Amino acid sequence: MTDAVSIIRAKRDGHHLTGTDISWLFEAYGRGEVADEQMSALLMAIYFRGLDRAELSAWTAAMIASGDRLDLSALTRPTVDKHSTGGVGDKVSLILAPLVASCGAAVPQLSGRGLGHTGGTLDKLESIPGFRAGLTPAETLAVLASAGCVICAAGSGLAPADRRLYALRDVTGTIESIPLIASSIMSKKIAEGTSALVLDVKVGTGAFMKSRDQARELAQTMVALGTEHQVPTRALLTRMDTPLGRAVGNAVEVAESVEALQGHGPPDLMEVTLALARQMLALAGLAADPAAAIADGRALAAYRAMVRGQGGDPDAPLPRAAHTHLLAAPGTGWLTRLDALAVGTAAWRLGAGRARKEDAVSATAGIICLAKPGDRVQAGQPVLELRADEPERFGPALAALDGALEVSEQGPPPRLSPVLEYISAE
Ligand code: URA
Repeated sequence: MTDAVSIIRAKRDGHHLTGTDISWLFEAYGRGEVADEQMSALLMAIYFRGLDRAELSAWTAAMIASGDRLDLSALTRPTVDKHSTGGVGDKVSLILAPLVASCGAAVPQLSGRGLGHTGGTLDKLESIPGFRAGLTPAETLAVLASAGCVICAAGSGLAPADRRLYALRDVTGTIESIPLIASSIMSKKIAEGTSALVLDVKVGTGAFMKSRDQARELAQTMVALGTEHQVPTRALLTRMDTPLGRAVGNAVEVAESVEALQGHGPPDLMEVTLALARQMLALAGLAADPAAAIADGRALAAYRAMVRGQGGDPDAPLPRAAHTHLLAAPGTGWLTRLDALAVGTAAWRLGAGRARKEDAVSATAGIICLAKPGDRVQAGQPVLELRADEPERFGPALAALDGALEVSEQGPPPRLSPVLEYISAE
């Protein structure tokens, strides 16, 4: 006979939990027979003791079994999705989903909202007049079938145990655990029904994972979990020390994504997007060239079809902030550092992000990076353009940017590829 206290004690003392223990735990938690404080104690024990491979697989399976699994079998195209662990200026999904769709795959991108200094894909898309992120499963399938891609909110029926556990982790200091992060992300992606998955695991000051070793461990853990659950999965480790592209915010990132789909994306953003697209197409078994799909306008057409399918008007002007403030280079030389975390925090303070999940975000607030690391700048030249609806937001945002920029006479600094590593199943 299993009980919650024995499971907590076993994990606390470093013993192995069986698959039966874990499935009982989740079922009992779902019935209200395991209390939140017991689950919290277990999460803390896992934070310290970890989960071995068999435990992690059972834990993830139990999270998937806590809800529905979307059935995408009616689609004629191969399905493939991408997940990013989140970064500053990370608008890759807005470009990648239509791009891969325009090459013949179906991309079911069920996303969450942004919390903290990294923005949420849905918040960005909702700055498009009329765009709806909340779709029913039937609407999701209809947009997927017609446009080839959909980017919408994951309904409450997918891995509901993750939502409850994430809320507990958020208030008990147990977010930063590789097995808990891996099972949280992968349970939602597997429940979404995609046949294959590519992960963009960000590394650096603006990322969840600050070190490359940690990021590699997380990526390998998620790739193994996907593979075990018959979802072929690969991962890329990509740099997140400076914002990706030039725009950070909601409407400003939509505008930059459209420019990228028109063939005018900044090099770092395009390099990451195309590297992910190639991996997704390989997993979907499609021999298409994503760069050609941008050049000939197919990717832009898929984006427009998706936006229309979700109620948005791709031709409507995007909203613009009422106030701007320019931040100048502190000296003349090469811009050697533009810190991602500082820029993300500043954009968040301008109103682009939320502190609590109930908060509203500003569609127009954000930051435009007028120069990027590697660029030559003159003292006094504007490097960042801050945008906000209320001018009183500039002070706190500027405080976050204190020390975020470095200009050096030595240079130019070497151009580093944003793609660090490729990880596939062992
Ligand atoms: N994103 C998730 O979905 N879950 C985590 O635990 C961390 C990031």
